[in-house]
Amino acid sequence: MSYMVQTSSVARKPSISPSKITTYLACPVKYRYTYVDDRARWLLRAKSYYSFGTTLHRVLQRFHDSGDAGVTTTAQVLAAYEESWIDAGFSSAEEMAEAYGEGKEILERHVAETLSRPVEAKTLFVERQLRYDLGEFVLIGRLDRVDEYDDGTLEVVDYKSGRETVTEEDVSSDIAMNCYQLLLRNKYPGRPIRARILALRSSSSAAYAMSDTEFEEFERDISTLAKMILTEDIYERKAVRKPMCEYCDFLPACKQDPDFA
Ligand code: SF4
Repeated sequence: MSYMVQTSSVARKPSISPSKITTYLACPVKYRYTYVDDRARWLLRAKSYYSFGTTLHRVLQRFHDSGDAGVTTTAQVLAAYEESWIDAGFSSAEEMAEAYGEGKEILERHVAETLSRPVEAKTLFVERQLRYDLGEFVLIGRLDRVDEYDDGTLEVVDYKSGRETVTEEDVSSDIAMNCYQLLLRNKYPGRPIRARILALRSSSSAAYAMSDTEFEEFERDISTLAKMILTEDIYERKAVRKPMCEYCDFLPACKQDPDFA
């Protein structure tokens, strides 16, 4: 079996991540241009929503990091926000000012709610990459935050900066959240595991804990899918027009194909 992608050195196993899987499932050609074939990489443009989300993640990382004693109050959080702000991808100063104001409100509310809640869990770690060797490939994922509860439960918390709502079903059907639970279960065998999505714009959240059967099925399915992604000749894939193409940076590259309608 010859792997065509993600092998940056002879000794290194190919890797798969939630981002790679979701990109592949959305469009295999986009996966190729993003992870395998860098000839169209120059078409990638900065996105305001990535800048906004990355800024909030950086500030929340510092706020919840028990090893970072410098960002614990609202004033310190807002100072960290100003320092961390990424301005790439905004179309105008007005658009950026509006986003900046929204981010400030989100952070002020998050800090107020966190500090007013009784402490039920301690943060085990923030922004850490976990790896799970699944034989022919390695599953990797970067977890925003993992909280540890008194009963031993480990909860991975994923921040969504663009979302207003979230349901338990959203969490249970989210490939990334299932990958994070699998990675956590592998690192901490025997511990109860749960995943939570926190919709930052509304502070609403929902959680889901996979059963043993779901873990087994998911690991089997993800292995099958990963092997398929990592072994297929991705250059054979043809670009197929779909609604997401209008918002895709690689559209000019796909338009070079005479069969791309
Ligand atoms: S333009 Fe469409 S077909 Fe081409 S990479 Fe983007 S999503 Fe895929």
